[in-house]
Amino acid sequence: MRIPIQEVTPGVERAEIVGFVHELRDLGGLSFLLVRDRTGIIQVTVPKKKVPEAVLSAVREVSRESVVRVRGTVKAIEKAPGGRELVPESFEIVSLAESPLPLDVVEKVPADLDTRLDSRFLDARRPRVAAVFQVRNACMQAVYEHLFSSGFIHITTPKVVAAATEGGTELFPIAYFEKEAFLNQSPQLYKQMMMGAGFEKVFEIGPIFRAEEHNTTKHLNEATSIDVEVSYADHHQVMALLEEIVIAAYRRVDSTCRAFLDLLELGDFEVPSSPFPRLPYEEAITIAQKKTDEPISYGDDIGTAAEKAIGEEMGSHYFIVDWPTAIKPYYAMPYDDDPSVCKAFDLMHPRMELSSGSQRVHQHDLLVRQIQSKGLNPESFLFYLTPFRYGMPPHSGWGLGAERLVMTMLGLQNIREAVLFPRDRHRLVP
Ligand code: ATP
Ligand code: MG
Repeated sequence: MRIPIQEVTPGVERAEIVGFVHELRDLGGLSFLLVRDRTGIIQVTVPKKKVPEAVLSAVREVSRESVVRVRGTVKAIEKAPGGRELVPESFEIVSLAESPLPLDVVEKVPADLDTRLDSRFLDARRPRVAAVFQVRNACMQAVYEHLFSSGFIHITTPKVVAAATEGGTELFPIAYFEKEAFLNQSPQLYKQMMMGAGFEKVFEIGPIFRAEEHNTTKHLNEATSIDVEVSYADHHQVMALLEEIVIAAYRRVDSTCRAFLDLLELGDFEVPSSPFPRLPYEEAITIAQKKTDEPISYGDDIGTAAEKAIGEEMGSHYFIVDWPTAIKPYYAMPYDDDPSVCKAFDLMHPRMELSSGSQRVHQHDLLVRQIQSKGLNPESFLFYLTPFRYGMPPHSGWGLGAERLVMTMLGLQNIREAVLFPRDRHRLVP
């Protein structure tokens, strides 16, 4: 019976393992192989005079990255990885790998990101690459668990839609029988409608599609959004929830992913502490004015240079709050006493934006006016507006980018490192 390589300790007498041939060395009378599964690496030592002929011929034939099944005796030996080696009684080639490999799994030859993504299945065999996705998995598990245990209902909303969430040009049109349709840029309108349906606390973790024209290191054309909406909550309450979720993800990684963090050379990994500072938009602009050469003034979007300057000043996670109504979407709730400012927030990592959210407008007529003031036509939003006429709880929510969470957590330089099969301006395959 096969056991995970990690469980083959020096104390075990006999073991059967299955894995990929990581390295292969022939030293005359001895052959050494390293065999790797997702839990670890073991040395298989083949003393040519002492093993059956069948083992010898299989070892002679095998190539790097082939899948092999090895059964034999375990010996404690200090120099080998994990302090043990396996001496085979049987050695079966389960699946022979062709040579040469399109990508070097052992990472002796550095490959650029494009080459790596072209052969992602091989790239992901690299322990350091797999570690990123183990960390992503731990984050997602923590997020799901936190939301389920807080009484959230998981929903699924359509990705093929008839109208834009926020207007604009960021949409991918698709052919939908005889109609034009789009890939949804956000579940925003649907999760709000579920507040109108009385679900109170919903979340969706799913793809969002953005036809961003530009190739940047923090934008994908298909990203994963962790989306939350809560009835009878204001923006402060959902900011507190967002803070909890981010910290829960960091905590889970801190407590379950130590080996992966070590592989990624993140020995100094730290869980951020709450509360994250709440920085009013106006003060954020003042910081940007002091610290950058690019002209920026009240009412402008916070661009990449400003984002970086403010992030350096703040040093760790923070919120930007109290945004001008004019630069936030129509569904963000203006303050009663000053409607030029709204109850919207962005959660920031020092390097970039992680999430946007707000208390939402729940009054039908105000919502119609705000849609109009953005130059959009309320007629195209009838399906969304109708629920606001039949009893709509006040509500708030946010959307958090899963890839940016992982990217910033692990200090990855490119968001594509946090996705198995990224979609960008130039990449549609694999
Ligand atoms: P940015 O200004 O950085 O492009 P945004 O304000 O357009 O982001 P939102 O519409 O607020 O993005 O989406 C909420 C979150 O979803 C973002 O904070 C980000 O984490 C994630 N997100 C949005 N668009 C993308 C994208 N193209 N690629 C990766 N993540 C994205
Ligand atoms: Mg945003």
